[in-house]
Amino acid sequence: MFFQGNHDDMTDSIEAIGAGFAVYELVPEDGSFELVSCNDLYEDILGKKKDTAIGKSLHAIFPRYISQPLVETFHRCKAKQVALESEVIIEYKGRERHWRSIISPILDSNQGKLRIIQTCVEITEKKILERKLTKSMKRFEAVVQSAYDGIITVDGNQNIKLFNQAAEQIFGFTQDELLGEPLTRLMPQRYRKNHGAYVEGFKESVVDSRSMQTRAPVHGLRKDGSEFPIEVTISKINIDNSTELTAVIRDISEKNRLMEELLLASQEDFLTGLYNRRKLTELINLEIKRYKRFGRPFSFILADIDYFKAINDQYGHDCGDEVIKAFAQLMRSSLRDTDAIGRWGGEEFLILLPEAELDHACQVAEKLRQNSEQLSTRYEDEEIKFTISAGVAEYSDANVDRAAIVKKVDQLMYHAKKEGRNRIVS
Ligand code: GH3
Ligand code: MG
Ligand code: MG
Repeated sequence: MFFQGNHDDMTDSIEAIGAGFAVYELVPEDGSFELVSCNDLYEDILGKKKDTAIGKSLHAIFPRYISQPLVETFHRCKAKQVALESEVIIEYKGRERHWRSIISPILDSNQGKLRIIQTCVEITEKKILERKLTKSMKRFEAVVQSAYDGIITVDGNQNIKLFNQAAEQIFGFTQDELLGEPLTRLMPQRYRKNHGAYVEGFKESVVDSRSMQTRAPVHGLRKDGSEFPIEVTISKINIDNSTELTAVIRDISEKNRLMEELLLASQEDFLTGLYNRRKLTELINLEIKRYKRFGRPFSFILADIDYFKAINDQYGHDCGDEVIKAFAQLMRSSLRDTDAIGRWGGEEFLILLPEAELDHACQVAEKLRQNSEQLSTRYEDEEIKFTISAGVAEYSDANVDRAAIVKKVDQLMYHAKKEGRNRIVS
């Protein structure tokens, strides 16, 4: 084709391709290649006017780092008689330009000389974009892999495409075990059926990111089959008509455990494990509310260990603690599960008996008094005995507030002390 047709027509066509175009000829004497002809665009590659380059060898036109590999490729092209493709990077005044170079051998039938046609297309912009992309991919990879949260991406078919290191730790699977697998493998059986509908709903939704905790706690499934509570935020992006979803997942087992512990600590007396004063106060308020609504009376017992100071003085504070714990245990075993027992002060305990009238509460208190009297607590080699005094009161008047009813039961307990201790006053 190169040797047929009008030369000007052909030159126009070549210019229109938008590629640099050159013809080199082998100099058999020294194996070099001389530039025979080139188009205007090729001047870009030369970095100079073509007139200054035509008739010169590759080594004279380009610096060695460019000409040497070119000469080698030209020789390979000649030997194999096939077209070869390579990338040529040329630095022009500090700026790198990249060219895709395609060379093919032709034989000049007139003189039997070997010629090589070189076509060059600039790919600098593409290279810059590729580099930028690689950089941002690396950055993305570093962020995803070093994230504290598990990050999982699924494709339009809900198969896993990305599974970061944190996700590996959270679920106990390696990335290799899960790539391409359905996401449902990480869900307890009961969630799997509705997963498809949930995803469809989210795809349709106008929001791009959603926390899944809004309705109910969500659980994940580890490789070992155990379930654990998680916090999940999912986001979607549309790629090629398909919706990819990414879930950011946090294992909240430890957080939940701590919250439970804190809740208990805020309600519990440290020494006895009974309710503390704050929780009791809350429960009394609740019972008062319930009385106002349903009109069902309830009762209180305020029990105090007699001469407790003497136990402390005689056997030591640790012994006093043991006695307090023994009495707490005695109350637990003597009362109903529905009764709320709490430590009101040092060796003073308040018992709240829902739905109990005064008579019943007095029987309970009397039983507790008798049991306490009979209890022997061992501390080191000593048998410690103690008794209790208690006040008992019923709540059956909506005009009485919490402070007043507590004051009343306190006064009754004080009467029991005054009347000689080891007794119940109502
Ligand atoms: P009464 O018969 O009038 O109730 O006399 P008492 O000695 O029991 O009463 P008092 O209120 O004089 O003494 C209670 C003592 O309980 C005082 C305090 O040092 C002690 N105490 C309070 N809390 C604890 C505790 O957690 N452990 C121990 N070992 N002693 C405590
Ligand atoms: Mg006491
Ligand atoms: Mg006391």
